Amino acid sequence: MPSSPVARAALHYPFASKPESGQLLEVAQGLHWLRMPLPFSLNHINLWLLDEEEGFTLVDTGLADDRSIDIWQELFESALAGKALNRMLVTHMHPDHLGLAGWLHERSGAPLYITRTEYLSCRSLLQYSHEQAPEDAIGFYRAAGFDEQQLSYYRSQFGGFGRMMRGVPHSFERLQDGDLISIGSRDWRVIIGQGHSPEHACLFCETENIFISGDQLLPTISSNVSVWPSEPNGDPLDLWLQSCHRLANLLDEETLVLPSHGKPFTGAPTRLHQLIDEHEADLTALQAFCDQPKRAVDCFEVLFRAPINRHNLIMATGESLAHLKCLEKRNLIKRQRDASGVDWYQTLA
Ligand SMILES: [Zn+2]
Repeated sequence: MPSSPVARAALHYPFASKPESGQLLEVAQGLHWLRMPLPFSLNHINLWLLDEEEGFTLVDTGLADDRSIDIWQELFESALAGKALNRMLVTHMHPDHLGLAGWLHERSGAPLYITRTEYLSCRSLLQYSHEQAPEDAIGFYRAAGFDEQQLSYYRSQFGGFGRMMRGVPHSFERLQDGDLISIGSRDWRVIIGQGHSPEHACLFCETENIFISGDQLLPTISSNVSVWPSEPNGDPLDLWLQSCHRLANLLDEETLVLPSHGKPFTGAPTRLHQLIDEHEADLTALQAFCDQPKRAVDCFEVLFRAPINRHNLIMATGESLAHLKCLEKRNLIKRQRDASGVDWYQTLA
């Protein structure tokens, strides 16, 4: 959901210009911003190149499509000629971040640093790539209120994760919360966030107050927080809110945040409190809306300003469920499944 213009004014963007697609821009000494295109409504991802004495470490890799591969090939022949890729550090498993790790590893031998849950989740999703949607997953979306047409669209899209990846290295180096990683002239503390993906790694350079946030903290859009069929009764929104509170205590208004989407910014605690407040306001509105029994798909009108179509249906459903599960876990609403397998949520009197 886009933030209001008023909310956005509180943040500061220290860089007047952004790099063109496929170009590097130095944002701190030896720390380069690389913007890569994405073929979605979210049309770019930011990658970060960290110089070392010899070669560099890369944070996130880009989506596994021909355009991104062309850009990498051009870079290796121009700006990065003669520079070795020493390691890839990937914040989380989503294909725009991890998509080219397999391809880059094959090309360079660079090891993949990632948290264990992200790595294993990715591997299990890749296994689904050539399979049919399981009945449990169909039941999950039927329970959310999908009609037969929406269910068949879901079936046709199933396994799409693997199509945005070029494999993944067969081994990894584990990142854990609190680890200190030395890269070039800086030490980076690994900070784990949850809710958007299971064990998302951020990197914090305390001495220079620079925070590489991945999708855990973005300046203008709120990250997707979804319930997925693999954990139908999870409460990712609670995990997300806990992570926001933790980051709001860790970072200050001067911290330079390097996000995966949008521009580098300062004002992290302000932004984190906006995000918390927006979710809490959505929860309050949803609780009121459920004074009569509602399905997850009925809640779109409360949670989203943009129309929901087949392209954003799965994400919107996941977000609706995340808010409903959070209310359920807080004992503010109850859920009842009807004879046709559809879940109805109603405020507790
Ligand atoms: Zn993501």
